[in-house]
Amino acid sequence: MTQNHDIGASSGLLARAQTQIPAQAAGVIIVDLDQIAANWQALNDHVGAANCAAVVKADAYGLGAQRIIPALSSAGAETFFVATLDEARVARSLAPNATVYVLDGLMPGSAAATKEIGAFPVISTIAEAEEWAALAPSRLEPVPCALHVDTGLNRLGLSAPEIHKLAANSHLLDRLDVKLVMSHLACADEPHNPKNAQQLSVFQILLPLLPSVPLSIAASDGLMLGPNFHFEMVRPGYAIYGGQASPDRQSPVAPALEVHARVLQVRDVAPGQTIGYSATFHPDRLTRLAVIAAGYADGYLRHLSAADGETRGHVAIAGQLCPIVGRVSMDLITVDITDLEDVEVKRGQWAQIIGPHITIEDIGRSSGTIGYEVLTRLSPRFTRVYLGGPENAAPGA
Ligand SMILES: *Cc1c(COP(=O)(O)O)cnc(C)c1O
Repeated sequence: MTQNHDIGASSGLLARAQTQIPAQAAGVIIVDLDQIAANWQALNDHVGAANCAAVVKADAYGLGAQRIIPALSSAGAETFFVATLDEARVARSLAPNATVYVLDGLMPGSAAATKEIGAFPVISTIAEAEEWAALAPSRLEPVPCALHVDTGLNRLGLSAPEIHKLAANSHLLDRLDVKLVMSHLACADEPHNPKNAQQLSVFQILLPLLPSVPLSIAASDGLMLGPNFHFEMVRPGYAIYGGQASPDRQSPVAPALEVHARVLQVRDVAPGQTIGYSATFHPDRLTRLAVIAAGYADGYLRHLSAADGETRGHVAIAGQLCPIVGRVSMDLITVDITDLEDVEVKRGQWAQIIGPHITIEDIGRSSGTIGYEVLTRLSPRFTRVYLGGPENAAPGA
């Protein structure tokens, strides 16, 4: 057996990352940049002639925009969506020639700063349209932006009456160089939900009022609803990172990350003792515990705590699932390894938090939330390790 095997590094990405993991790392997120590029490519292929943008808000869903944006750029992505101006600044510096859209639009007073970095606001209100248009020196030099149309999500976007108002105001509209008209779906993860077709038809009814420019309505799940939803651009985020939000319709993507944390200590607890804060867990047999270096400050949600009689979440050690017992604390969890077969768990060994045995969707479900929230909450305390990518490409590749 190899040294790596001894500490439980038999899974794919962990074994490949081994030499890059510092000895002091208590937890790691290993991101396969080549798989992320391949996922984007597969989504781009799936939508045929439509353009595939990349949504990289929230630091590329918690995985590190610094490495992910260049990897997506070199795969061919030319349009990025972020939520905030700070995120746009990062995207702009990493992809100087890309189009960068800011989904939150303009904060009052931030139009000049947005223009200065060359980002395009996604405009959802007449007030934003006015603030942005005020930067156009004349109607000969309109300012570039996207318009967000609300078609039934009732979150961001111009309502039908506002679109009529905008359409009637040529003084305002002429100063906007509308590059994209977009909307967002409420139920795209449910392919048979009639809301999808309803939103599509509201979109189509409103479009004649607006400049005829490229259109976009689909994110990761929407682009799986069929060609009617592709228009000129799709805007996936989650699927690029390997997420499969819709249980009914698999995206043509593969997992691109693993999360692991170290075993710090192994201990035996006798019946009559209790485990963890508030003594919520009373073992009814001699129980072997592994204490693992991940807690709620790492984004391992406290909802995964398990009192007597409960099973919420698991980690996988040497390929076997081990249930969390007792409370999740700030820095630590305790898992029951009594039933592990043929493994002697050692200090320093890795416990898989997300990987081949526990998908992002699994941990989302057991955390009482969705994979998106788990990913975007993984804290900076995890050491991020990257495999592949443009900087590590083989010469001539
Ligand atoms: C976050 C977001 C997306 C990306 O959604 P995914 O489900 O991650 O693909 C696309 N469009 C808008 C408006 C968003 O807010």
